[in-house]
Amino acid sequence: MELYAAQAFERGIPEIALTDHLDFMPGAPAYQYSSYARRERMVRDAAERWAGRVTIRFGVELTYESRYEDQIREHLRTHSYDYSIGSVHGMSDGPYARERIASFVTGKTLADAVAPYFGEVALAIRSRLFDTMGHLDMVKRWLVPWFAASDFAAVPELYEPLLVSLVESGMALEVNASGLRHPTGETYPGPWVVRRFRELGGQRVTTGSDAHLPNCFAFGLEEACEIVAAAGFDRLTLERAVDRGDLVLPERFRGATRSRP
Ligand SMILES: [Zn+2]
Repeated sequence: MELYAAQAFERGIPEIALTDHLDFMPGAPAYQYSSYARRERMVRDAAERWAGRVTIRFGVELTYESRYEDQIREHLRTHSYDYSIGSVHGMSDGPYARERIASFVTGKTLADAVAPYFGEVALAIRSRLFDTMGHLDMVKRWLVPWFAASDFAAVPELYEPLLVSLVESGMALEVNASGLRHPTGETYPGPWVVRRFRELGGQRVTTGSDAHLPNCFAFGLEEACEIVAAAGFDRLTLERAVDRGDLVLPERFRGATRSRP
């Protein structure tokens, strides 16, 4: 946490949220990895140490799986966070697991290949449990051997219902920059999706580097901010329904071009 906070301070990033994973499937990496009390104490202590230099929020990234929705809802009802991300991940017993993905994808259209992932994303949005929908289409990462990011851009109809529902939910869309350091080569989701979200009336976006290690801190943050600015957003929003989560983008992002693909 000190390494993240120090880098934020050096780069002039005024505020970060620490969003450790929380999984609900027994055996998953962040299933009961640490207690809520311990996580909160460590983050709040760090926030106190860095007060006045970097604002540190206590967040969480909950793995959304529809089969655990009741438990997720109960967790969020009984535990308080400054900021919550809901994300769909590839579960070890799911079709995108390393040992199963080839046989799952072979012979499938893109629509069929993404269906299990997008189906869960749709339910995550419908649950309205989270402040932000994390990496909306991270499934791109696993499908790289079969489908390029440009193939996804050719099927906007797969995204449309998700975006419509996300706008209605009031949840923010995360522009997750980790795809820029993956073979995927673009953010999750890509710039055209962010633009479409805005066109449909989307009000809230945020960015994240998904830095699982200190050396990935803020990776791709500049590009992610350019993408949201180019889509017409002037601020990042961490929370739903309250203005205090807003972080107005620095001046250098104003008037960002729409030249990106
Ligand atoms: Zn994630």
